[in-house]
Amino acid sequence: MKEKIFINKTGGCICGDITFNVKLDEVPLVFNCHCIDCRKKIGGMMTIILLRDGAIDIDKSKLKIYEHEGGSGNKIKKHFCGKCAAPILTYVEKYKKYYLYAGLLDDISFLKKAENIHFKESHFPFMEINEKNIKV
Ligand SMILES: [Zn+2]
Ligand SMILES: [Zn+2]
Repeated sequence: MKEKIFINKTGGCICGDITFNVKLDEVPLVFNCHCIDCRKKIGGMMTIILLRDGAIDIDKSKLKIYEHEGGSGNKIKKHFCGKCAAPILTYVEKYKKYYLYAGLLDDISFLKKAENIHFKESHFPFMEINEKNIKV
């Protein structure tokens, strides 16, 4: 079996109050979520990376949390910077997993693949979209 390779990446919010180090798979699981919740939170499509347990090194005391129920009744905790309001992490209780907002990474050049989710319920009509591709 091929051993998994992990890469260390840095990231942070626009005001610089929140910084973090994260260990990601060489080819991480990346999702573009087009659901209405994310659209309202971000103002557009949201790109998130699934984090393995303990993958992120971050000072959580600086994060504010907004908790709400997702479409399926699941508790979702959105973590954001208390100063500039940049979204940092989303915790989905059903999966007991944290997701990192991909745009917070300083280097995004390795994010070459993403899966589109919840685009059937909502996406901007100027996008041509399926599971693997977006054309604008
Ligand atoms: Zn969503
Ligand atoms: Zn900030």
